[in-house]
Amino acid sequence: METGNLRKGTMAVWGGEDDFSAAGAATTPIVSSVAFAYKDLDEWYAVATGNAKGYIYSRNTNPTVAALEEKVRLLEGAEAAASFATGMGAISNTLFTFLTPGKRVVSLKDTYGGTSKIFLDFLPVYNVYVKLCDTTDHEQLEAEIAKGCDLVYLETPTNPTLKIIDIKRLAAAAKKVGAIVVVDNTFATPINQSPLALGADLVIHSATKFLCGHSDAMGGILAGKADLVKKVFQFREINGASLQADPAYMIARGMKTLELRIERQNNSALTIAKYLVAHSKVKAVFYPGLETHQGHAIAKQQMKGFGGILSFALDGGYERVKMMLPKLRLTHLAASLGSVSTLAGPPRTTSHVELTEAQRSLLGIPEGLIRYSVGIENVDDLLADLEQALAVL
Ligand SMILES: *Cc1c(COP(=O)(O)O)cnc(C)c1O
Repeated sequence: METGNLRKGTMAVWGGEDDFSAAGAATTPIVSSVAFAYKDLDEWYAVATGNAKGYIYSRNTNPTVAALEEKVRLLEGAEAAASFATGMGAISNTLFTFLTPGKRVVSLKDTYGGTSKIFLDFLPVYNVYVKLCDTTDHEQLEAEIAKGCDLVYLETPTNPTLKIIDIKRLAAAAKKVGAIVVVDNTFATPINQSPLALGADLVIHSATKFLCGHSDAMGGILAGKADLVKKVFQFREINGASLQADPAYMIARGMKTLELRIERQNNSALTIAKYLVAHSKVKAVFYPGLETHQGHAIAKQQMKGFGGILSFALDGGYERVKMMLPKLRLTHLAASLGSVSTLAGPPRTTSHVELTEAQRSLLGIPEGLIRYSVGIENVDDLLADLEQALAVL
């Protein structure tokens, strides 16, 4: 569709949806057909060889899935997009497409747990050189990039202490050595942050989180330069980590309210962060929207809003977390994030459960830390809920 000057909130509703409107469907249907039939063999051949638009087999492409890819492509301002069964599908396919034996990747110590595992355990087996830098040490990152590398992998804000990385600065460093820049934009969403406009080549989403927004479907999306997306897509076509039509429909449906949800979650998270800062039982609050946050200045420059996730540490450590968290009534104690309902959990038992206390401490994760993903509930109810839960301490 002609998107011209449409804003993101409008593209989130209309983007990618016009393929079916000719048949009268006012919303993109779930096309669950595995294969697509042709009466004309020449036409079939043209589609199969990529010379005509159409669908052949749903491991490769599917109309419902294509509608979702188009929606994300528009929101990220990308040339192309490809989808995957999960966020980790998008991340692993991207890394394994470009990081063949002998290549070197520079990334951060604080990447998402699954990504970190690929860097530490899987890639070295294939003789890929992995350098993980202290997450906010931009000088070290620039120095390691300047030594020469093939791919720079960034994530900002990070999990769970919301560290902020300067995408523009590191993308500029990567350009000098010809490295591909990939950014995991899951926490920020395209509403709050546009990595491609800041110089990244590829942007990745766990669509399971904010894009879907309802914790009821899993998916992953890659968007960016067409030639790079195509390479990863071709790898995915064969290894089979394809997104199905059903979750694609759920994610596209969720995305229609993306801007509404994100604006509300941005506002509520900031209100809650300020409330927690002033609370006597709370030792530290991590939220990039707070002026006291280490990455606030960069966040203010590269983000439109500061996101729906914050974390806070209780005075007294994990014993206090165990007392307080189960008292929350309007919060699922669960591992995910980015949903309409508020979700919370301690990194000590969720994302960073495999690390020792000393390793968590090195990453700046206090034992009493709670990650809190703000839903779309009325913020006054969330504040009252936190108040009564913290009162037990
Ligand atoms: C959840 C998450 C992933 C992985 O996504 P899945 O859909 O669970 O595979 C990757 N990156 C970030 C930042 C995440 O929060």
